Amino acid sequence: MPQYKVAIVGAGPAGYFAAQALQNLQTADLSFSIDMIERLPTPWGLVRSGVAPDHPKIKTVSKVFEKVATADGFNLYGNVELGIDISIDVLIAKYDAVVIATGSANGKKLGIPGEDLLGSISAAQFVPWYNGHPDFADFDPKLDCDTAVVIGAGNVAMDVARMLALEPSELDETDTALHAIDALHKSNIRKVVISARRGPEHAAFTSPELRDLPKLEHTNVLMQPIDITAAIERAGAEPEKEVRNNLEAMRVISELEQGKHDRTLEFQFLCIPKEFRGNGKVEEVVFTTSAGEEKIIKCGLVITAIGYEAEPLEGIPYEKGKVLNDEGRVSDNIYVVGWAKRGPSGVIGTNKSDAADDFAKRP
Ligand code: NAP
Repeated sequence: MPQYKVAIVGAGPAGYFAAQALQNLQTADLSFSIDMIERLPTPWGLVRSGVAPDHPKIKTVSKVFEKVATADGFNLYGNVELGIDISIDVLIAKYDAVVIATGSANGKKLGIPGEDLLGSISAAQFVPWYNGHPDFADFDPKLDCDTAVVIGAGNVAMDVARMLALEPSELDETDTALHAIDALHKSNIRKVVISARRGPEHAAFTSPELRDLPKLEHTNVLMQPIDITAAIERAGAEPEKEVRNNLEAMRVISELEQGKHDRTLEFQFLCIPKEFRGNGKVEEVVFTTSAGEEKIIKCGLVITAIGYEAEPLEGIPYEKGKVLNDEGRVSDNIYVVGWAKRGPSGVIGTNKSDAADDFAKRP
């Protein structure tokens, strides 16, 4: 019976769902022996270091990964870094196929003046910090100011803003890193502004995350009714289902009764970030509004959450933040899956259908 030896590089969701897709293809006449290598000592990638800890249900997908890991023919090798501990050439020589599943770890930059000031950080630093990623154990986000701005209108921006605006005792029971719980308890931040460059009808938030916001027990959530009614009008009579659901969830938020709490999470739309200003550290963010006017928010922390790019790997072709590939195939026996393949889009489960489709095409 033919047995194919496959190396998977990266033990995140994309790697595990690729392994599961291969395991599901096994028959009496075909089997796979899978060696997964991972730079960190621990597996699960973004499920461990990317999911917001106040949303623990999302992490239950790790049960699926445990099942994959305990199946015959699967081995995980932690603390093994491609390009440092083993080269791509060795993997190519020793395995029938190599699957790159290294994700997109680097935060995209805005490329505007002041972005390198102290107090300007990326969600690609802040999120792994509060999740206890070892690379960020010494990271020190500046939480000693009263206002923070989060730039971006996606679910990562929402996670980051919520983590900053929550009453920190709500995190005590979660698996938030202890250093982050401690720092968030001491945080002076009471106002968090999420800033979108386009209107509500174009926001990349998903509606379940929006619908969760009114459930925050200790935080005012503010959206201007005028922003939402104007967006509903612009979206027309038959917007796509996702847009319709999002706008409905935002309408509910915009009509919430306000002002009870001393913590506020506020949304602004149609504001393009122009510059971060300050004397050695961020003191204000300057935006250009849709009317072409300047709008300034005084703040001591600004977090960009505007997407991610894959870290280039030696010996693997790379273009525009992704591994160069043709429907997942990189070259003869090299494949790529997940965010490294398609860019940073989709939820964790997207990797399941993606990997199943990819491998079913080429057993
Ligand atoms: P995303 O969904 O692609 O959102 C990125 C946001 O950044 C967009 O609003 C985009 O605005 C904005 N942006 C990009 N460039 C910008 C610029 N130069 N200036 C201002 N804004 C800019 O990315 P993400 O939030 O990083 O999330 C990545 C993926 O993970 C998404 O598929 C997301 O749904 C998923 N995720 C899911 C969950 C969950 O299910 N709970 C949690 C976290 C992440 P434009 O649209 O105008 O470009």
